[in-house]
Amino acid sequence: MLHDRQGRVVDADSLAILTREVSMRFPLVKENTIRYPRDQVCAWCKGTGVSEPNAMAVLSGGALLLNSRGESVLKKSNRLDGYLSLTWHGAHDGDAGSDFGIYEAIPVALNVQGGQFDLYFCSTICLRSFLNHAVDSLESKVLRAKQNNKNKRRKQTMKSKST
Ligand SMILES: [Zn+2]
Repeated sequence: MLHDRQGRVVDADSLAILTREVSMRFPLVKENTIRYPRDQVCAWCKGTGVSEPNAMAVLSGGALLLNSRGESVLKKSNRLDGYLSLTWHGAHDGDAGSDFGIYEAIPVALNVQGGQFDLYFCSTICLRSFLNHAVDSLESKVLRAKQNNKNKRRKQTMKSKST
């Protein structure tokens, strides 16, 4: 019996998708690129046929501009600049809080013209795998930043002892 990272039972095909090693370059959508992928394939497994009339999972983000009466205007607006990011914000207080001085982010969408974007997936398994990957990427950046801070402190300590 096979299990995913959360311990749920999955079939072999799903497990292969969940544990697939990928390299994604964030942000996935930016400027005038408002959908990912551009081709009609799954953002995670690259399976084809991810478009209407087929079923799909979509991670949509953005905002709607309001008109002067406070009603949503459904079309995109050049006055909107879309973004979506996952962020780790370290504590402010270097003595009491953890991760002082660390601020790391994974920009999934950045400066999207018109403010609205879509990421397409063939299944919720692939959507979940993508979200796990994004969080894993954030954790990796935070761990690197922590290690860099440790190395800096070690160098500063050695420098202050030698003077
Ligand atoms: Zn997929």
